[in-house]
Amino acid sequence: MSDSNKKFYITTAIDYVNGLPHIGHALEKIQTDVVARHHRSLGENVLFLTGTDENSLKNVQAAEKEGITVQELVDRNSQVFYDLKHVLNLSFDDFIRTTEKRHIQGVEKLWKTCQKDIYKKTYEGLYCVGCEAFYKESELVNGLCPEHKKAPELVKEENYFFKLSKYQKQLKELIEKDELKIIPETRKNEVLSFINSGLEDICISRSKERAHGWGISVPGDPNQIVWVWFDALGNYITAVGYGSDEDKFKDLWPADIHFIGKGILRFHSIYWPAMLLSAGLALPKSIFVHGYITVDGGKMSKSIGNVINPIELVEKYGTEPVRYFLLREMPSTQDGDFTYEKFEDRYIADLSRGLGNFVARVVTLATKLKNRGSIYGSEGKEENEVLFAPQNLKLKNEIENAQETWKKSLDELKFNEALVAIWKLIGFCDKYIEQTKPWEESDKQGQVINDLLLALSNIAKMLKPFLPEASEKITKQLKTKRKSEVLFPQL
Ligand SMILES: [Zn+2]
Repeated sequence: MSDSNKKFYITTAIDYVNGLPHIGHALEKIQTDVVARHHRSLGENVLFLTGTDENSLKNVQAAEKEGITVQELVDRNSQVFYDLKHVLNLSFDDFIRTTEKRHIQGVEKLWKTCQKDIYKKTYEGLYCVGCEAFYKESELVNGLCPEHKKAPELVKEENYFFKLSKYQKQLKELIEKDELKIIPETRKNEVLSFINSGLEDICISRSKERAHGWGISVPGDPNQIVWVWFDALGNYITAVGYGSDEDKFKDLWPADIHFIGKGILRFHSIYWPAMLLSAGLALPKSIFVHGYITVDGGKMSKSIGNVINPIELVEKYGTEPVRYFLLREMPSTQDGDFTYEKFEDRYIADLSRGLGNFVARVVTLATKLKNRGSIYGSEGKEENEVLFAPQNLKLKNEIENAQETWKKSLDELKFNEALVAIWKLIGFCDKYIEQTKPWEESDKQGQVINDLLLALSNIAKMLKPFLPEASEKITKQLKTKRKSEVLFPQL
């Protein structure tokens, strides 16, 4: 049922702009886009947010390397991330940059509101600039950061700390009871075991010197810069008006779901909710954690030179084949593998032949009948789609089963399973065509074609959040009963 008053606030993580987007970024944004589109079609008032994390030390280093100012670097690279909107056909409603005034104001307010839990102390620790985080000796793998496989640097400074330890019990309860729901269950257990191992207070600032003067200054202490994660996590509230538009904030917060990658789970499911508890704000309702994409079975890395650029992929194959591959091939919460061979296999088998051929066959049949003025039940009603429930009970069941699985899979954020259900229906319809031979004239010819049109109309509806362009093209052909351009040209 539609509910036009219900708000639905959904976010992606915001991206570091020291490098360019790879298909891992594309995966997260496309997954989030599917959910945003689905909730819009349910009539909800959706706000889909993405953006860029620009106050990191990594940007300072990247700009130095290129010999440009940090501002030039973040402006240029943030634009590339924004442009994914067109490249990947993303329907985001807002794009926040952490160098924007609305964000800085909000972070200053958040810091002041958490003041009671903030104190200063001298600290020595191992810092990974890649992660922008301190590590304990015991968390390193052979002395290296587990994410970046690089040795962290030893840092000794007087900094501000946040009393994370104070929230250990409360966080544990909220996560156990799914008041902050972490999807999938395996990630929830990972978070709980980290909490059970004991939470220590976290360092949330650094010296202006170490930050190279880049970032948001600590309110009341211009010699200290707010830790980039304390700053970046705040984007989810500053984008909806925290510190700048309190009415808007009241309407939109809490977020319904944060989409993130597994590498930043701890920041989102422990630090962020603790900060919100300290500030007296509601917690996000859920956190969805996707896996990583490997390439030819190995980790994507600049040094190996196997990073897949989504913009190049789209230039070669088109937006929707990229959306389809990432949603279909990657189990939504686990790691998945990319190879050009797998990509082209899916393209040919599922899109060009599977969906593309089916649409062409059905529309051709409908055109023939229409030209003879004898399409079942729709004489003279060109603009109508399909008028009758399917006459074939097996087909009717198949459509209903597909719809049920599709809906359930979308609700559970199992995108690949929703697509499998649609393609199963396409496979059934192909067989139905072979069995009924609707190209031969018979009493049942019109009825069979009507059934196929109905199936196709349902397929177009189910495709809509995943492949919005293909869905629209199919719907248009169903209305006009006229074949238009090929959906997915042969490679
Ligand atoms: Zn690291």
